[in-house]
Amino acid sequence: GDFPIETDTLVIGSGPGGYVAAIRAAQTGQKVTIVERGSLGGVCLNVGCIPSKALISVGHRYVDAQGADAMGITTSDAKIDFSKAQEFKNSVVKKLTGGVEGLLKGNKVEIVKGEAYFVDAHTVRVMDEKSAQTYKFNNVILATGSRPVEIPSFKFSKRIIDSTGALSLEEVPGKLVVIGGGYIGTELGSAYANLGSEVTILEGAKDILAGFEKQMTQIVKKGLKKKGVEIVTGAMAKGAAETENGVTVTYEAGGEEKKVEADYVLVTVGRRPNTDEMGLEEAGVKFGERGLIEVDRQGRTSVSSIFAIGDIVPGPQLAHKASYEGKVAAEAIAGEKSEVDYMAIPAVCFTDPELATVGLSEQQAKDEGYEVTAGKFPFGANGRALALDATDGFVKLVSRKEDGLLLGAQIVGTGASDMIAELGLAIEAGMTVEDIAMTIHAHPTLGEISMEAAEVVLGSPIHIL
Ligand code: FAD
Repeated sequence: GDFPIETDTLVIGSGPGGYVAAIRAAQTGQKVTIVERGSLGGVCLNVGCIPSKALISVGHRYVDAQGADAMGITTSDAKIDFSKAQEFKNSVVKKLTGGVEGLLKGNKVEIVKGEAYFVDAHTVRVMDEKSAQTYKFNNVILATGSRPVEIPSFKFSKRIIDSTGALSLEEVPGKLVVIGGGYIGTELGSAYANLGSEVTILEGAKDILAGFEKQMTQIVKKGLKKKGVEIVTGAMAKGAAETENGVTVTYEAGGEEKKVEADYVLVTVGRRPNTDEMGLEEAGVKFGERGLIEVDRQGRTSVSSIFAIGDIVPGPQLAHKASYEGKVAAEAIAGEKSEVDYMAIPAVCFTDPELATVGLSEQQAKDEGYEVTAGKFPFGANGRALALDATDGFVKLVSRKEDGLLLGAQIVGTGASDMIAELGLAIEAGMTVEDIAMTIHAHPTLGEISMEAAEVVLGSPIHIL
C-alpha cells in the first residue's frame, strides 16, 4: 500500500461540528488533519442554516418592499430577480466557507479532500477520484453529519426536491407543495410564500412544528395562513407523478384521496445520519437507534480512540449543538475534563414570527418532577413591539417554584432568535426570575418583554394587569 501519513487527531467532516473540533484541537496543541469529501463548512454553511437564512431575508425584504398598510406605505412595482437573490445567497455562503478555510489554515490544520473509510480503530483510507491515502491517528472525531431521508414514493428528481434543491431553485415556484411540516419544511415553505409562491404544507401528524408548544405554533400558523399558506394536517403523502412542467401529488386526508398540482414538491421528512458505508463496524463502533452513534459525555464512542459529534449522535440536529460537542471532544482528547451539559441548548425556527426555546417547557419541567411557576408576557404590551408593528407573540418563563430558578424559556415573536440568548445565559448561570426582573433592560426594546415575563412569574408586572 501507500506510505501512511501520521497525525495526532483526525477529524472527518468539516461542518459546524468538525471544523470547530479541528480548530479547538489545534488550539490545544494537537497536530490535526481534517477530511472533507464535499465542501468545507458542511451542510450548515453550504446547504443548511446559512443559505436558508439568506433566502428567508430575501423574502422579508421583498414583503417589506410591497409596503405597509398600517404605516401608510404603498408601493406598486416591487419585483424580484431571483437569479440575483441566488447570487446574494451564494456570496454569503462563499464568504463563510472561505472564512472557515482561512481559520483552519491559520490554525495549521491540514485539510484533505476526499472520502474517509475505516481500516481499523487507528487507521482510515481517504479516497478521491484519483488516489487513495492512508492516515494513522491517535484519535479521530467523526463529524459526518446527516442527509435528507428519501421516501420511496417520492424519489428525488428535477421536480421532487430535498432542502438542498429548494435552496438552489432557479425560479420562484408558482406552486410549491411541502411534504413534512418540521422546522426545515416550514421555514422554507414560509420563505417561498414570502417570495410569491402559493404553498401547501402536507403534514402527516396532527400538527406542524412538533416539539414546540401549541400556544406558540398557533401564532406561526396564523402567520402562515395570512401569507396564504395552506396547511393540511393528518395528510399521508402517497405518491407523485411528474408531468412535463410540473408534478401531481396524491395524498390521503380525512379518509379521502386527494390530489394537488405543483411546480415543485419539497420533501422534508427527516434526516438520517451519515454513519453507513464508512466501515465503522470494522472499527468496532457500537450503534444506537436509527444509525446514531452512542457516546459518553465527552463524545467518546464504544472505541476509546473514536469520538463522534453533531448530527450523528443523539439529540437535536442543530449546528450549535454540533459545534459545542466538537469543542468538548477536542478538549477531552487533550486530556481536559470537559463534558457536555445539554441543559441550555436553544432551538430556533425562523418562521414569521420566529420561535425559540431553551431549557424546559412547563410540561417537561412538571414531567421531571419540578413544582413550577410559569409566567407569560405578550409582545402586544411592549412599546418597541408596537412601534415595529410586530405585536404577535409572547415570552414565557418557567421557573422552579421554591426559589424561582429559571428552568426554561419559550419565545414566539419577532426577534425571538436573538432574544433567546439572554435566557440561555440565565439558565447556564443558574439565575432566578428575580435576577432577570432586576436586570435593567434598555427601553424601548424587545428585551423588556423577557424582564416583564419574569415580573409576571413574581406576581408584580408593571405593564399588564
Ligand atoms: P454536517 O454539517 O452535515 O457536515 C458533515 C460533513 O461531513 C459534510 O460536509 C460531509 O460532506 C462530510 N462527510 C460525510 N461523510 C464523510 C466521509 N466519509 N469522508 C469525508 N467527509 C465526509 N441548524 C441550526 O442550528 N440552525 C439552523 O437555522 C439550521 N437550518 C437548517 C436548514 C436546512 C435546510 C438544513 C438541511 C439544516 C439546518 N440546520 C440548522 C441543521 C444543521 O445544518 C446541522 O445540524 C449541522 O450542519 C450538523 O453539523 P455536523 O457538523 O454534524 O454535520
